[in-house]
Amino acid sequence: MKIIHRFFFGAMILVGIGCAASLSSPVADPRADRERMSATDDPGCTASTLVSTGGAFPRDSRTLAIRWTGYTNYELAYDGQIILLDAHFDRGSMFPPLGFTAADVKRANVILLGHGHLDHMSDAASVGARTGAIVVGAPVTTDKLKTQAIDPKQIRTVTGRGGELLEFPGYKIEPILGRHGEPPKNVTEAFDNALKATAPAPTKEQIAERNKIRERGTNDPRVVTEGTIAYLITLDNGFRIMFRDSGGVITDYEKAAMARIGRVDVALVAVSASFLHTLTSQRALEHVRAYKPDVYVPGHHDAPFNGLWRATEPLFQMIKDENPNIITVSRGYREPICFDTENNIQRRQGR
Ligand SMILES: [Zn+2]
Repeated sequence: MKIIHRFFFGAMILVGIGCAASLSSPVADPRADRERMSATDDPGCTASTLVSTGGAFPRDSRTLAIRWTGYTNYELAYDGQIILLDAHFDRGSMFPPLGFTAADVKRANVILLGHGHLDHMSDAASVGARTGAIVVGAPVTTDKLKTQAIDPKQIRTVTGRGGELLEFPGYKIEPILGRHGEPPKNVTEAFDNALKATAPAPTKEQIAERNKIRERGTNDPRVVTEGTIAYLITLDNGFRIMFRDSGGVITDYEKAAMARIGRVDVALVAVSASFLHTLTSQRALEHVRAYKPDVYVPGHHDAPFNGLWRATEPLFQMIKDENPNIITVSRGYREPICFDTENNIQRRQGR
């Protein structure tokens, strides 16, 4: 009896120690993220300030910090370089605030424009002019850009049809011709009509504001077939990022690129605009099957105050049902996601 009692008492002490030492627990407790964040004390990986607006780079030059800033805008900060993916920051009063304005973006090396619709390029000229960044886009995108106040010497036009590798300090960028999303009209019309019937109508001022922003993008129908570019960014150590800012079908150009390289470490991909999750999830599955990412980060899922956000959970579920090893990440505006880029697929495969 005495032995049993001692055993029980010992077990209680062990349990107590286990609770106190939660930080070192091998359990994937989500609160450990917060504890780790405050413990690391690296604002480059904890602060919600964009590096392009004055925030810090990650302390370790091999750490990549990715911050999502609405729609398919992302900021990549790595080894002293800032890459902006898309540039649509001043969205107007119909949208939830991003916490900064285009005028706050004062530092960037490269801006990659996935396509030229207003919600992807409306601030490319002003941010490009202020930062001196190289701005890259398809012909239909850069044609529009050249009508705005930016030095044409900063503009690079790419078709994504091959042979256009862009090299920068520490990384290279391969433009690949993608395809814009083509959501079924009967679905989008039904949902748009329902929203119009139920949501408060925008004011005259809001409509005027939006039309002004609209002028800084293009509506050329060629955006769908020859104006949507996926960008493969490869860091010097082999870490790969695929950026695709519209939810269209995978093209033969993308298939060829992926047949050559195999997989990417991170895929930053737009959720398609088809409302019904059977449709959006099928498309997300197609993207994931093509890029085979370690980590899938969706974009373009937010919406104006009275619009519908595109749900990411059903996508995540279908992706995980097919491949439980894929890590799905969706964060708030400006919330950093940090990667140790030395840990990458090419390294693991010994290439
Ligand atoms: Zn578009």
